[in-house]
Amino acid sequence: MRLGLDELLTPGVPVEQVVAAPLVAEPLAAVAPVAPEPQVVGAADLVKAAEVQRVAAEQAARAAEEARLAEEARVAAEAAAAQSAASSVVASAAGGVQMLVGRITSGFGARWGSSHQGLDIAAPIGTPIHVPLAGTVISSGPAGGFGQWVRVEHADGTVTVYGHISRSHVRVGQSVAAGDVIADVGNEGQSTGPHLHFEVVAPGGSKVNPRPWLDERGIGLT
Ligand SMILES: [Zn+2]
Repeated sequence: MRLGLDELLTPGVPVEQVVAAPLVAEPLAAVAPVAPEPQVVGAADLVKAAEVQRVAAEQAARAAEEARLAEEARVAAEAAAAQSAASSVVASAAGGVQMLVGRITSGFGARWGSSHQGLDIAAPIGTPIHVPLAGTVISSGPAGGFGQWVRVEHADGTVTVYGHISRSHVRVGQSVAAGDVIADVGNEGQSTGPHLHFEVVAPGGSKVNPRPWLDERGIGLT
């Protein structure tokens, strides 16, 4: 007698159940491609895969480092821009050079029984002093009671004097433009606190009251 297919596989079991069996197996088989078993992976392939991962990690690290450096550069550039904007703001409210930002503590004239030949402007040590007019530096360095000074001669022969400075930024013979930083406020020499002692010496050699001289030129001090 010849056996039919049904009898060979599962004698006595209805066809429906035989057919159902592969359906149960099917999903299991379908899972396999999702997480494929490595085919035949040689040691060389594993090393290569590890190398690829390592290079990728290095590239990611390098990209992160470059991004960090770029950010640092951007922050530094912003700071530098802010700084140069601050130091290039030389126009006073009156339209002239903002010589420095300070507080007038002593005017020109009689003081403590003697004559004060200039104007004292208190400001923190290191405050930049901008020359109010273009000119030529005729003194820069140590100067008796002023500790250190800078003197600048202007086109009409007037000389401006900057005393007690902590630092000069110019040298004798140097040409300066209006607004250039020529020195920093200090407390050198016979000084009772950080301030700029500013004098204006007229072409004839007489020291004049700096206030009207500054005001006429719109130069700012405070
Ligand atoms: Zn003074």
